[in-house]
Amino acid sequence: MNIVLLGPPGGGKGTQAKILVEERGMVQLSTGDMLRAAKTSGTAMGNKVAAVMDAGELVTDGIVIDLIAEQLDKNSGGEFIFDGFPRTLAQADALDALLTSKGTHLDHVIEMQVDDKALVNRITARSTCGSCGEGYNEISKPIPANGSCSKCGNTDFQRRADDNEHSFRIRLMAYYKETSPLIGYYHAKNLLSSVDGLAEIKQVKESILNVLS
Ligand code: AMP
Repeated sequence: MNIVLLGPPGGGKGTQAKILVEERGMVQLSTGDMLRAAKTSGTAMGNKVAAVMDAGELVTDGIVIDLIAEQLDKNSGGEFIFDGFPRTLAQADALDALLTSKGTHLDHVIEMQVDDKALVNRITARSTCGSCGEGYNEISKPIPANGSCSKCGNTDFQRRADDNEHSFRIRLMAYYKETSPLIGYYHAKNLLSSVDGLAEIKQVKESILNVLS
């Protein structure tokens, strides 16, 4: 089964994708994570996209489509969760073509519905463990009182360069302008389901599992 998690920045796509990886053995393909890894390791592509990402704008379609194509080859036979991809209609068409060329297709597109007002608070409150990548949020899932990651015990936490209010506003605008047309696109393909992304993490998970069952 292959699914897309669709939703605005801070909507909980990454959190739910990680749960599906753990519980169902699916493969998470997050273009944001791939781009951040390229940026951190200082590859030519990483250097090229760094400023665009920090500003909250979208990188060009060709770059992310190539990243996804590479990962589909590497993880051939896997069940994929597309997290943060596609973000434009051109990317959606490319994904369709890539999956078709592998003899497979998308089964579900899950839109995580959230209220904009909650997003900026969510995003400026979040951090990740610098070692295992476990996500935390000062509001919904604080770092344990002893200051150590509950998963790996590490005490170093990181915040994303684009998790600030200014970049967030630009990311939200990019979502409405470029990505939200995908809701209609996938609805027309009869693939779209929507869940309440502002519910408790466990409840969102249950709603997603309901769609997949
Ligand atoms: P994310 O971690 O999904 O919020 O992505 C972080 C940033 O990476 C975005 O604000 C964009 O600059 C870039 N990015 C990630 N995925 C895409 C995509 N599918 N298309 C264009 N830019 C992307």
